[in-house]
Amino acid sequence: MPPTVDEMIRKAAVLNAVRHDGKAEPGAVLGNLLGESPELKPKARELMPSVRRIVQEVNSTPLARLNQEVSEKWPTELVREKPEEERKLPPLPNAGKYKTIVTRLAPNPDFVLHLGNARAAILCHDYAKMYGGKFIVRFEDTDPRLKKAQLVYYDMIRDDLKWLGCDWDEEYIQSDRLPNYYAVAEALLAKGAAYVCECDVEKWRRLVAERIACPDRELPVARQIERWRRMLDGGYGEGEAVFRVKTDLSNPNPALRDWPGFRVVDMEKTPHPRVGTKFRVWPLYNMASGTDDHELGITHVIRGKEHLTNMARQLFMYKDLGWVYPDAVHFGRLKVEGMNLSKSKLMKALDAGEYHGVDDPRLGTFAAMRRRGYSPQTIRQLMWEVGPKPVDVMVSWDNINAINRKIIDPTSHRYYFTPDPITMMVSGVEESLEVHAPLHPQHPEMGSRTLRLPCEDGTVTLLVSGSDRSVLVTHEPVRLMGLFNIETIGFEDGILKAKCLGRTVSEGDRTPIIQWVPTGSKVSASVVLPDASERRGFAEEGLKSEPVGSVVQFVRFGFCRIDDEKPDRVTAYFAHE
Ligand SMILES: [Zn+2]
Repeated sequence: MPPTVDEMIRKAAVLNAVRHDGKAEPGAVLGNLLGESPELKPKARELMPSVRRIVQEVNSTPLARLNQEVSEKWPTELVREKPEEERKLPPLPNAGKYKTIVTRLAPNPDFVLHLGNARAAILCHDYAKMYGGKFIVRFEDTDPRLKKAQLVYYDMIRDDLKWLGCDWDEEYIQSDRLPNYYAVAEALLAKGAAYVCECDVEKWRRLVAERIACPDRELPVARQIERWRRMLDGGYGEGEAVFRVKTDLSNPNPALRDWPGFRVVDMEKTPHPRVGTKFRVWPLYNMASGTDDHELGITHVIRGKEHLTNMARQLFMYKDLGWVYPDAVHFGRLKVEGMNLSKSKLMKALDAGEYHGVDDPRLGTFAAMRRRGYSPQTIRQLMWEVGPKPVDVMVSWDNINAINRKIIDPTSHRYYFTPDPITMMVSGVEESLEVHAPLHPQHPEMGSRTLRLPCEDGTVTLLVSGSDRSVLVTHEPVRLMGLFNIETIGFEDGILKAKCLGRTVSEGDRTPIIQWVPTGSKVSASVVLPDASERRGFAEEGLKSEPVGSVVQFVRFGFCRIDDEKPDRVTAYFAHE
């Protein structure tokens, strides 16, 4: 019998209510109803009184009851995602001024990307896409001493960005562009806007603190150019000469007084991983970054507010050269509760062998999150919520996990996993059993897995989880998922004996329900937890049909990503509950 119109309204109202904290909205309900049943459109006006009445009824029903109604009557509706609300990033400043918006992400390939980089990566990429513009990735690898690039990280960063869905239109590597920076140096020297300083660091600091020009600053342009050539030709050793951009020695902020643009590096000691010992004069951050932002036509510099001082430094150079500084958006820091995102600290700990690698589950790197089964969509959604605001933002793993759960739950197949297993023999079973459990309770179309329990002399043998020990030893009835109720008798030679109480489930049954694995058809499984410890046990054999990389839910345990499969063992990484 087809549903009556009232029943159809009720369905639309209940679904609308469960998606909005128990409060359905008549207009939305009518809209959804007409979307599902367009044949009702001519009657829309007449339907409204019934819609209002039913919505009122529904809204006065406790949310838990509504949820129950949905899972009983329309289980597949629960996971049908509501259309993604039109989320928008606030507009970029002066976007209308430019024909094409160009943004850039400028990672240093001395480490992989991590959650602390998420804001820059997602915002730079997504803003460029939002305006139909261009997203540039620029590897900033011009510090051969302290932030030394490593070849392996160029590719790992590319992998991170591809995973995040931040495909780039152009890529540049600063170590290819040294001649560009040298040309800028010469232009600045020719304008008398820079000088080559021979003072030792201590002396220079002392002078600049007192706002006194060092003796090199006012030497004539020709002498400066001569010294610059000498820097390039190897006439100065490491630390013997610094190219400085003239600013304003009376600037109240000492950090803005005559900043360093280039220095001499002994490349025999620290060869560059890409260009070896080819160059000995290396640009410092502001010189390289400032030059590139201009030459690559960046219209919007979107980066952390810790760069505000750098912008102030670069503005002197831009003015000297007659360049126009891009529009800038400086956002706050993203902190993750209980997680160290300081790159230098992470690198030190990694070097000291405290972690297994950049994808160690204890780290907030994208490599680790990928390995654990996080969706890149989770990171994007979080960054859109956080946006480009200048305030620091603290998020918790609970926030991240709640977003991720919604994304991965609808596609994760379910399996039983029994960590630290206990062998259990259940007597009083009439026959061998074959259980067909759905791969996803809300998606029958995904199919099912089969668990077989051969019965011998009225007894079946299976494994249960060690974490359920406390429930099992109470001798109160316990339900084995999809099977029957049991009552435990006690341990005998390390085996837990129990008897079958039958399959009936009574109304309001509060019997604890636990998962199990058949002893005859199982696979060893170990799960690497977020603290890098391992939990071992057995999973049902069907798990072996999941390819490496798939995310599954171990029922009553949590979401995990299959990391490795051997004929006799599956290894998974734990994401979250
Ligand atoms: Zn000097």
